[in-house]
Amino acid sequence: MKKQSNLSRLLKIAGSHKYLLYASWVLSAVSAFIALVPFYYIWKVIRDVLDAAPDFGQAENLPRNGWMAVLFSVIAVLIYISGLMCSHKGAFRVATNLRLRTMEHIIKLPLGFAESFGSGRLRKIVNESSAATETYLAHQLPDRCNAIATPCGLLILLLVFDWRLGLLSLVPVVLGFLIMMAMTGRRMQEKMKEYQDALDDMSNEAVEYVRGIPVVKTFGQTIFSFKKFKDSIDRYKVWVIAYTKELRTPMMFYTAAVNGVFATLIAGGLAFTRNGVTTEFLLDLIFYIVITPVISVTLTRIMFQSENAMIVNDALQRIDSVLNLKPLEETEHPGHPKDASVELQNIRFSYDGETDVLKDISLAIPQGQTVAFVGPSGGGKTTLANLIPRFFDPKSGSVRIGGVNVKDIPKEELMNTVSFVFQNSRLIKATVLENVRMGKPDASREEVLDALHNAQCDDILEKLPHGADTVIGTKGVYLSGGEQQRIAIARAMLKNAPVIILDEATAFADPDNETRVQAAFSKLAEGKTVIMIAHRLSTVAGADQIYVICDGRVAERGTSRELMERGGIFSRMWQNYQTSVQWKVAKE
Ligand code: ADP
Ligand code: MG
Repeated sequence: MKKQSNLSRLLKIAGSHKYLLYASWVLSAVSAFIALVPFYYIWKVIRDVLDAAPDFGQAENLPRNGWMAVLFSVIAVLIYISGLMCSHKGAFRVATNLRLRTMEHIIKLPLGFAESFGSGRLRKIVNESSAATETYLAHQLPDRCNAIATPCGLLILLLVFDWRLGLLSLVPVVLGFLIMMAMTGRRMQEKMKEYQDALDDMSNEAVEYVRGIPVVKTFGQTIFSFKKFKDSIDRYKVWVIAYTKELRTPMMFYTAAVNGVFATLIAGGLAFTRNGVTTEFLLDLIFYIVITPVISVTLTRIMFQSENAMIVNDALQRIDSVLNLKPLEETEHPGHPKDASVELQNIRFSYDGETDVLKDISLAIPQGQTVAFVGPSGGGKTTLANLIPRFFDPKSGSVRIGGVNVKDIPKEELMNTVSFVFQNSRLIKATVLENVRMGKPDASREEVLDALHNAQCDDILEKLPHGADTVIGTKGVYLSGGEQQRIAIARAMLKNAPVIILDEATAFADPDNETRVQAAFSKLAEGKTVIMIAHRLSTVAGADQIYVICDGRVAERGTSRELMERGGIFSRMWQNYQTSVQWKVAKE
């Protein structure tokens, strides 16, 4: 049922290429029929030999029949290959369409989506899932047509030759197969699913283990983490055993049935020839004994192919998990911000559609002011800031820049209006120059170097073998967190957006870098509207306005002086902060 709908869906995606897929199925089936023709000629060859014996000179047709067998084998292979050529072309089209469709959809999604979805999972969907459908259409389905056509062809062949012997050989094999399928049936499907899941789980744990090595080493948790990986291997082993065990009895039964054919053939055959055994009959008998296992082998092939359909089903489900996400609404009435003020009105937001992470937040930031969001981790600061460049859209309420709802600001313009510097700015594997130029693609070399200078990056450039033209992230050229941060600031400087968001941007800078990073930030913030989310309360003391955000609400607001006098959350945070700084100083 499900399989059917998956297939029709894939055919729809194939568009006009679906005819190539149809052709591939027909060609695979035809090649299976033709591959049986040589059996007929071999049978003729054996009969000619027996007829002519002992004077083999009389067997004139011998070479001809031999060649015919070869010829038909070659034809069968050629047809099969042309079928594969069709299926590959069609499958490639389907996989490409799926990839493009997924990517096109991802581009329309809120930017924050990739972050919350996980890049590993995303890669798996875009690449592996489409690849799974490609393999399915290119190889597995033609193979299935071939596997189904072979026993059908044999059935005709065996019945035409001698229907009595045909029935004697076929009935046990087909019955045995049906009984085996009934015995394994659903249970085996379930076991197979568990087995696939365990396999997935094991590879995920392996990735997690490798990815976690730095953390794991730092905290000396090697044994714990490795145990998780090892446990997943053990679970996998259990399922492999369970799965193969499930197969054991039915397979034994089936093998017995197939071998029983020899007994029924001989017993039945003898019964048909009461007048004694003729050469002719012996020949047929040998032929049937040789050909029956071919049927049983192809039938088993069909059984194991149900796995493929399941894998494709999973792959399509994964792709759907992305395609079902709602894209950002496109505006119909574009507007242009008149200044760099930011206004959040009655914002509610939820990641899962159930619990609100932001609960009715309203605040206004006049152009050119610097505000700070502080508060406990998980309070919603990052989420709130993410709504400004539309990484996500709020569930209700509005975000306005310069009086215009961000939904109405054209995407490109919004991107140029807001700069975001994250806690761990990621640089891409490219030269320093190219990394900075991402902020303004048409910037001249001088402009880029200027931005680097203003972002306090001179010492970094001096250190690098080719200065600003050094490719970073490769061949041993690695930069510290603080250094990467400064280059990210240079990028934001070049972009020169009027609204700047700094999300815990100094959190990871080492003491050496910190003053430089701070200086770079001050330069970046000059004349801009700045939203700063900060760990270190010392950095927010100078803000025009501080918002304490707790549990998705604004708990307190005011200047640092006002908040200190009030003696609320902020003043307690400040005291704690002072103590921790004094404690650190005392330790040094
Ligand atoms: P803060 O920046 O103040 O530490 P966040 O905005 O990061 O807080 O998180 C607010 C809440 O939203 C937390 O409960 C957090 O677990 C949750 N959250 C943050 N990011 C995501 C996400 N991508 N998907 C689901 N929940 C998230
Ligand atoms: Mg945060």
